[in-house]
Amino acid sequence: MAKVKSMWFCNSCGADSPKWEGRCPSCGEWGTLVEEKVSAKQNKGTMSTRVTKSTPQKVSEIKAMNEPRIHMPSEELNRVLGGGLVAGSLVLIGGEPGIGKSTLVLQNILSIKSKTILYVSGEESATQLKLRADRIGRQSDNCYIVCETSLENILTT
Ligand SMILES: [Zn+2]
Repeated sequence: MAKVKSMWFCNSCGADSPKWEGRCPSCGEWGTLVEEKVSAKQNKGTMSTRVTKSTPQKVSEIKAMNEPRIHMPSEELNRVLGGGLVAGSLVLIGGEPGIGKSTLVLQNILSIKSKTILYVSGEESATQLKLRADRIGRQSDNCYIVCETSLENILTT
């Protein structure tokens, strides 16, 4: 059975700390550290997977593979992505609240008919997303929405 221990995570910046502190040592915010139970065994597992040895390679000898890209409905988005979305990649879309990040993503994924898409929302409810989709005026039968913040649950889904 895995040993369970406590860790404290900052609500503001996500930094972790082995003990509770009134002020986050990373971002300096007060009262943002919240306790979370983590499995010690799981932690060790994560550590050991990080210790994979990689050997230095000459740039000239690295085989450049042409990554297959997923063409997005928005040409502007394709342009900033360098020709489309790279499969397996992680793209961070940043900006002020209300600037249209969610709308941009929803507009695009609702227009992709050739793939089954899972939209994971950590902030908005399914109803909010449905209302947004209605405002955009797009519907899709191959786009699924799940509201979840636990990475473990997201991966299971
Ligand atoms: Zn912090």
